[in-house]
Amino acid sequence: MSEGVYGEQATGRVTHSLLRLSTAMRSQAWEWAEGAGLTPTQGEILVLLMQRKGPMRLGEIARETALTAATTSDAVSTLEGKGLVEKRRALDDGRALAVRLTARGRTAAKRAAQWPDFLAKAVGTLRDDEQTMFYRTLLKTVHQLEAQGTIPPHRMCLSCAHFEPSKNPKKTPHYCALLDLKLSDTDVRLDCSVHETADAATQKKTWKIYAQ
Ligand code: SF4
Repeated sequence: MSEGVYGEQATGRVTHSLLRLSTAMRSQAWEWAEGAGLTPTQGEILVLLMQRKGPMRLGEIARETALTAATTSDAVSTLEGKGLVEKRRALDDGRALAVRLTARGRTAAKRAAQWPDFLAKAVGTLRDDEQTMFYRTLLKTVHQLEAQGTIPPHRMCLSCAHFEPSKNPKKTPHYCALLDLKLSDTDVRLDCSVHETADAATQKKTWKIYAQ
């Protein structure tokens, strides 16, 4: 790819770099998935079910993975055929189906969660302060993509009713009022199982403090 395709300014160069990372991720995800007899999408669904630690409805899986209902349904059916997930009636709604991992599926999910190790190794070579700044920058980008409707909302601290942001996290940590936890910038969670969405005004205030 020649220089300048995405622009000569910082925005273009950052975009170009992120696209190169996405190429590496796609290629590594396919390499892992082919070795495991799955597709990257199927691997992603297994990891999602493992992270959530409980059954999920097809609609929830589609929303979380930003896949269409048809693609999600096909991927889940394939996983079911391989004995990695099972569908049961949802406990709170007998008409809906909930998907959960089987014992074999849990083993496969643990393996699937390891394919990004190559990325973790590269990030691990950065200094601590670089990793902190990188994570803050990524969270801000994720937030922007959520606001644009490009990706689904995450259960992250920054949209949580219990999060108290610090104006100077290097000196005073952020705070989780629910868990009574001090949080450094790299402790801020992207997917928290006890997250509770804050009202719009609180989220706006939190982002104003965090983004300064
Ligand atoms: S409950 Fe979870 S998401 Fe909310 S502030 Fe605490 S750690 Fe963050």
